[in-house]
Amino acid sequence: FLEIQSIHKSFQPGQHVVSNFSISLQKGQITALVGESGSGKSTLLRILAGLENRDSGEVFLEGTRIQNPKEKLVPGYDEIQLVYQDYHLYPSSTVEENISRPLLQYDKAYKARRVKELLKLLDLEAFRDKLPRHLSGGQQQKVAIARALSLEPSVLLLDEPFSSLDGIQRRELIAELKDMFGNLGVTVLFVTHDLDDALQMAPELVIIQKGKLIQRGRPEEIFAKPKNLYAAKLFSHLN
Ligand code: ATP
Ligand code: MG
Repeated sequence: FLEIQSIHKSFQPGQHVVSNFSISLQKGQITALVGESGSGKSTLLRILAGLENRDSGEVFLEGTRIQNPKEKLVPGYDEIQLVYQDYHLYPSSTVEENISRPLLQYDKAYKARRVKELLKLLDLEAFRDKLPRHLSGGQQQKVAIARALSLEPSVLLLDEPFSSLDGIQRRELIAELKDMFGNLGVTVLFVTHDLDDALQMAPELVIIQKGKLIQRGRPEEIFAKPKNLYAAKLFSHLN
């Protein structure tokens, strides 16, 4: 469904931030991408979302090649949406305005209906007229996710969405979102460096180290047969 083929990216000569990275995701699948700080996770997501150029490699969505942003733009590119770690909400716009921002080109009636749906879906109705700074971190993250879902993308990329939330808030939000993504049938690539979050959210893990895909599989497979020391260490605290 989403085919990522041999993506390569460096910002300086000799550097390999994303290195020959290939993966294919099935429709509706939730996959966690796990790797330590600086391993290239955010760069990869930005490339997939069309926000960063790649040096080489291709991305196909349902068989259609996705252009890089310089080559703008394949129709239906809204199909892939990125949610940033630090939310990137408009601080002086209300929750409702933030969510409806990507819907500018739609008529009023559709916009109103869609925003209402999204507020309900993410249980944000009580916050409709509030500014982001009056919301908790988890609520702000939900607004960012609602906004990303507004155009009904088929792929949602989540970049460490829960890193600013405390343990209980995280558990609850992950459980809520996991159910919601399942119901929507959206394909999710969830980036984290927290193995517990990854295990809670996704049935399958992808391990990235220094821009390279080290291993992909179900947690028990990786646990039983880690491909390298980093993969083994990820699971060590669970023993
Ligand atoms: P974290 O878990 O800390 O968010 P990450 O896995 O998301 O890390 P990236 O942000 O993708 O890692 O960065 C990977 C490497 O690429 C880092 O060494 C970073 O310094 C470098 N890098 C990222 N963006 C740029 C840029 N615009 N210019 C130069 N170097 C960059
Ligand atoms: Mg990052």
